[in-house]
Amino acid sequence: MPRHSLGDGGCLPSVTENFIMKVCKFGGSSVANAEQVSKIVDIVLADNDRRIVVVSAPGKRDADDTKVTDLLIECAEKALAGADYESIFTQILERYAEIQRDLELADGIIAEIEKDLRFRLGGEKSHKGMFMDCMKAAGEDNSAKIVAQAFQARGADAVYVDPHEAGMFLTDDFGNAQLLDESIQHLHKVLTGRDDIVIFPGFFGYTRDGRVATFPRGGSDITGSILAVAVNADSYENFTDVDAVYPVDPRVVPDVKKGIAAMTYREMRELSYAGFGVFHDEAVIPAVKAGVPINVRNTNRPEEPGTVIMQSRRVEPGTVVGIASADGFCNLYVDKYMMNREIGFGRRLLQILEEEHVSYEHMPSGIDNVSVVLCESDFDKECEARVIKRIYAEMNPDDVMVQRDHAMVMVVGEGMHYTVGLAAKATAALASSGVNVEMMNQGSSEISMVFGVKSDQRVKAVQALYKAFF
Ligand code: ASP
Repeated sequence: MPRHSLGDGGCLPSVTENFIMKVCKFGGSSVANAEQVSKIVDIVLADNDRRIVVVSAPGKRDADDTKVTDLLIECAEKALAGADYESIFTQILERYAEIQRDLELADGIIAEIEKDLRFRLGGEKSHKGMFMDCMKAAGEDNSAKIVAQAFQARGADAVYVDPHEAGMFLTDDFGNAQLLDESIQHLHKVLTGRDDIVIFPGFFGYTRDGRVATFPRGGSDITGSILAVAVNADSYENFTDVDAVYPVDPRVVPDVKKGIAAMTYREMRELSYAGFGVFHDEAVIPAVKAGVPINVRNTNRPEEPGTVIMQSRRVEPGTVVGIASADGFCNLYVDKYMMNREIGFGRRLLQILEEEHVSYEHMPSGIDNVSVVLCESDFDKECEARVIKRIYAEMNPDDVMVQRDHAMVMVVGEGMHYTVGLAAKATAALASSGVNVEMMNQGSSEISMVFGVKSDQRVKAVQALYKAFF
């Protein structure tokens, strides 16, 4: 039996023993309107290996628009407060109705979505997180239902699959749920060996006692990654609205043209740490652990090969894959004569931070001094005052200083491993652009160099490094 037939009577080749399995995830911009949904159908039907489709809730149609998930949150908040939510409810329903009308789908789907939303709104409200998750999940759940209809209208054998029936079981940390291990087996059973195309809603699953629970925001990427693992996918295609992951932020270097063709998971992790925003690196942990290659692609330009992220790749020695940067860091500097001889100094310093619930990012040190790089958001002025007071009281230092408004700039590439002269090249580029390096960390990671600079020099630093390495 052919896996899916085309509306014009033609048939795509049937599945053979050696088929390749691709899981495709489409983000909010790819389901924002009928035109985008049609592109999803085209993309999936153009490749017989694309067998599982994960969708987000409809996102923004233009810069001033609001994502359906945000509308649902607002609606839920109004319902919890006992306020009138009808106008926002109508806006949500209209987002789906617009897609249904423009794709000329049967209008029964809108009555079904309305019933679903009313049912959720009438649910138990004593637990805010639980109610909120049930409302938020409506975005992707109904998106998957309408996308499945769009496929069916084109004659494809596609079905909406309910995460509950498929066994996507999560912890009851509402809004921040984690996958329960047993889910992979359930999902494997339900999703493999099928001839049809599965349309699966992203972002949520169910607790063991049947409550809806969502992943953190942006969590459809997590769903896609989990399904890719469950079905042993050959590729996890993550469709978004950029052609590829770029070696540098195009807002900082506008003339960057060529995307990254391939990078390793380690490179992705280092780059996304410092602001590479295509997806959240945590979202793809399941795929990374299982070694499933991730292919970032553009729904609007599917002919582009995108960026493949995988376990290992061939590298040219001395080459760099990308330059990333992020603001929002500060530097806690501690100086004490003979620090290197004092056993336990580092542990006691980190223990103070631990007891104040501050996690540290980097810790370059000298013989008599150490810098601990922290996220400014974890280290407000009150926390700073407590930490400094404790360091003086418990560690007897000569000097303690906090410098704020720092940025981290990272040069990343597997090809940097064992290559002499890269640090010199980087520092020379920074120096000739007048960038003052406040901190440098090279060698802890084989594949990156980190520079701490003042935030107001971040853009200049990235531009200088890009020019030097690309
Ligand atoms: N719709 C959810 C959000 O906006 C999840 C997602 O799109 O991945 O966060």
